[in-house]
Amino acid sequence: MKESFFKVFGQRATESSDAPGRVNLIGEHTDYNGGFVLPTAIPQMTHIELALRNDNTVHIVSSDIGPKGEDHSYILGQERPLHRWFDYFEGVTWLLQKKGYTLRGFDARISSHVPMGAGLSSSAALLVAMFRVLRTTFHLPLTDVEIALMSQSVENDFVGAQVGIMDQMASSLADTGTALFLDTRDLNYQRIALPEDKVEMFIINSGVRHSHSDGGYNTRRKECEEACLRLGVAQLRDVADVSLLSSLPEPYLSRARHVVSENSRVLKAVEAIHKGEMETLGQLMIESHASMRDDFKVSVPEIDFLVEASLAHPLVYGARLTGGGFGGSIVGICKKGHGRELADAIADRYQSQTSYHASILVPELRN
Ligand code: ADP
Ligand code: MG
Repeated sequence: MKESFFKVFGQRATESSDAPGRVNLIGEHTDYNGGFVLPTAIPQMTHIELALRNDNTVHIVSSDIGPKGEDHSYILGQERPLHRWFDYFEGVTWLLQKKGYTLRGFDARISSHVPMGAGLSSSAALLVAMFRVLRTTFHLPLTDVEIALMSQSVENDFVGAQVGIMDQMASSLADTGTALFLDTRDLNYQRIALPEDKVEMFIINSGVRHSHSDGGYNTRRKECEEACLRLGVAQLRDVADVSLLSSLPEPYLSRARHVVSENSRVLKAVEAIHKGEMETLGQLMIESHASMRDDFKVSVPEIDFLVEASLAHPLVYGARLTGGGFGGSIVGICKKGHGRELADAIADRYQSQTSYHASILVPELRN
């Protein structure tokens, strides 16, 4: 490891912050289409410690990059994207200064339990944690919603990932006990408690990694924009029913059909949770997965395997790909008290039949 890694905290950290990853129960690829989402925070967090310096240098260390961690330095005011992990940090100080805030150099150390590229939003956890620690250090008058919006702006305008607002809102506002029912058009949200006496969630990372700044995600987004142009609507949220899509040629018809049907599934899922109908919620998750696989085409065989292996268990109500897709994780719901044993069995089957390692994030192992 580089010598500078050890030097980074010659002085004690003055501030620290955390932000969680998220899992989306249902409502995928709807956020950049002005629609509805239903994420919840996961117990895994990204942690940042910070110590102020007396110059304009930012020195950051991530213990999660490479086998031994990596560090990077830059000068405030000279930020530029280099398509590396530290774009997320340079983007934060770039945006804050662009908005007129005065910063000073600092050393920061990042460590995270949110796996990267696993559909659990390590990028939003990192950005929100970074904004939080800078908010405290520099007494910035930022609300949690503003932090979410600025985190999205860093991804869109600096990193080059055209992501919607779900991940950042979830990391900034959600907690682990409730689902955040969010209207991404006006950012109105409601926290909805899952009936914890009946149901338990499990999350399995397939080990197949995606990157949001890669092509697939941005291509899907462009296809949705093209569908809107052809339909003469501002956003796919404005299409009330899939029957109104019949004039579209492929692939726009399939892409739009996913988004429009997914929006209505989120509304039905919220209703099912309110009524305590877990079979209905599970069925909606199963339909959501089929739509992402067949219409939106963002699943991969390994994820389909994990979903099918989950659904083979009678105690599982439903399971689906969670996050943007092209790899990542699945989320499932099952009868209360069986999450860990089911997830272990599903992960074992997966590992015996693929070359990937599956990791279970929820339920966490109890000591
Ligand atoms: P996701 O948000 O689903 O995990 P993304 O592709 O949006 O996937 O973001 C992952 C990227 O975010 C990583 O490739 C890396 O550049 C950056 N990142 C996330 N967490 C960390 C971390 N702890 N240290 C350094 N970079 C990180
Ligand atoms: Mg991300």
